[in-house]
Amino acid sequence: MSRLLQTLIATSLLLIGFMAQSYEIEDLGDGLHRFIDDRHRSVFLITPEGAVVTDPLNKKAATWLNEQIKTRFNVPVKYVIYSHNHSDHIYGAEVFKSPHTTFVAHKLTAQDIKNTQMKTVMPTLTFDDELTLNLGGSTVKLNYHGPNDGRGSVSILFEKQKTLFVVDWIVIGRMPWQKLWSYDIQGMINSTQAVLKYDFDTFVGGHADIGNKADVTRYLSYIEQLYSQVTAGALAGQSLDEIKKNIKLDQFSDLKQFDAWLPLNIEGVYERLMEESGMGWRSDL
Ligand SMILES: [Zn+2]
Repeated sequence: MSRLLQTLIATSLLLIGFMAQSYEIEDLGDGLHRFIDDRHRSVFLITPEGAVVTDPLNKKAATWLNEQIKTRFNVPVKYVIYSHNHSDHIYGAEVFKSPHTTFVAHKLTAQDIKNTQMKTVMPTLTFDDELTLNLGGSTVKLNYHGPNDGRGSVSILFEKQKTLFVVDWIVIGRMPWQKLWSYDIQGMINSTQAVLKYDFDTFVGGHADIGNKADVTRYLSYIEQLYSQVTAGALAGQSLDEIKKNIKLDQFSDLKQFDAWLPLNIEGVYERLMEESGMGWRSDL
């Protein structure tokens, strides 16, 4: 069979596959790949000794991914890492269950999976602050930076590939999610400042675009300005409506959902200041 014909067949098979499913795999180099299911993303690493998979997303997506890893790379899945405790990112892990697979999560994530009886695989390897996994010449560093979103949400650094994977508390190319439900805003800032000290060139988020370190710095700048401007408004005794009117931040207007979600982002920060920071019942305000 000619090379051209082979390529044509392979391309049409890929297209058929693509039309049947909405899933995509992007090669990021050095064995690392980005897995896309509609609005959700995760990464997986292929090494000569096996694969490291992060968030399985859901059963259908995980089933497709598992088949792809078998047919394209023919290596066993050695590790499945959960980024945090939210079901839209970590359901479907049972697809990868085998005697040679270790399921990894932060202790708080494991605790929450157990407590709320989540229908996914209970982690078999947990950690507090830091965990390093070595496989097939690559190193994966997991770090916990304190509360930011959900419980036990960690950063996942692929050292050799200089790629950082973080879910939900860093978003590139799009505004942070609506009213920032479940987010700890100061915690997001602290955690993002911490990961910016790492040596990485590529950033992959659990949603939206892929980016570089400068994109993460710009994201941090957005969150910091949003937080400080809403705080300043609240301290000046402005109402939520006044704060919404006063905050422009239009240097970030290129971000997707800017017009629709800026007022919601402001509202979310305001609510967090009133509740978590207790500004709502401060006697001096
Ligand atoms: Zn998410």
